[in-house]
Amino acid sequence: MDALPHKAGFVNIIGKPNVGKSTLMNALVGERLSIITAKAQTTRHRIAGILSGPNFQIIYSDTPGMIKPQYALQKAMMKAVRGALSDADVLLWVVDARDKTIDVDLKGVLERHAAPVLLLVNKVDLVEASVLEEVLEYWATHASVHTMLPIAALKGYNVPVVLEQLLTHLPEHPPYYPQEMLSDKPERFFAAEIIREKILLSYSQEIPYSVEVTIDNFEETERLVRISAVIYVERQSQKGILIGHQGSALKKVGMAARKDLERLLNKSVFLEQHVKVLPRWRQKSQWLQQFGYV
Ligand code: GDP
Ligand code: MG
Repeated sequence: MDALPHKAGFVNIIGKPNVGKSTLMNALVGERLSIITAKAQTTRHRIAGILSGPNFQIIYSDTPGMIKPQYALQKAMMKAVRGALSDADVLLWVVDARDKTIDVDLKGVLERHAAPVLLLVNKVDLVEASVLEEVLEYWATHASVHTMLPIAALKGYNVPVVLEQLLTHLPEHPPYYPQEMLSDKPERFFAAEIIREKILLSYSQEIPYSVEVTIDNFEETERLVRISAVIYVERQSQKGILIGHQGSALKKVGMAARKDLERLLNKSVFLEQHVKVLPRWRQKSQWLQQFGYV
């Protein structure tokens, strides 16, 4: 008897900000690839998480939430969303179980797309059973999709069913990437994302949105990884807040980031952080390009 045919394809996770797209991708891939916080627009880049099985490979693409762009950075982010859509074999449309408002623009895009759409009603752990019934009915009547599934990505509820469903829709294709590859992004990208996550978690108001992190040195020896990061902000006052009294705030960021980095890289990490002011970088195409957004 012949072996099972190999299936492989691109799966795009899409939806409004904060519905749980990154949480779902991490649950599906089983690695903490994409940074997750309660703040909207945590995910700025398109991040591919790769899940390989004995006869399948799924390349997930976790994109920034769909928004109406206000400035150049957001425009570049939405371009990434459209790019991810164009090559998708299956679309996972994630909505929040507490939200009964459909994004009509998104609905239109998904209806015109040739790929099957699985609608995932996420965070069902946060609603009563009777409310859930109502919500599922709402989505069943308002969204014309292939399949609808209640899930709780954070708790793993119905995540294996999502995987099962995906496998039925994937085309037959040889693997695109080597088995052991978890992402198409290099380690230094995750290093920068981890530092950015710690900043998002530690500061409020405009700092999270004004920050960009780059890695200007990543040097690996047998037992140690030396990482030097540059943290960009838009104003001198933000630099002051970021660093804190006698450097205490930035030190906290560094300690938390180092812990995660050591777990990710499985080595001791020596982390250096520099803060620089780059006025209005989010509006300037030259800097967006430099940071890999265009
Ligand atoms: P994204 O913007 O769509 O990528 O959303 P995230 O994955 O960053 O998640 C946003 C917030 O929702 C985070 O605080 C998650 O912990 C939370 N979240 C995601 N999935 C669930 C879920 O199933 N249940 C609950 N209670 N919270 C969730
Ligand atoms: Mg996200």
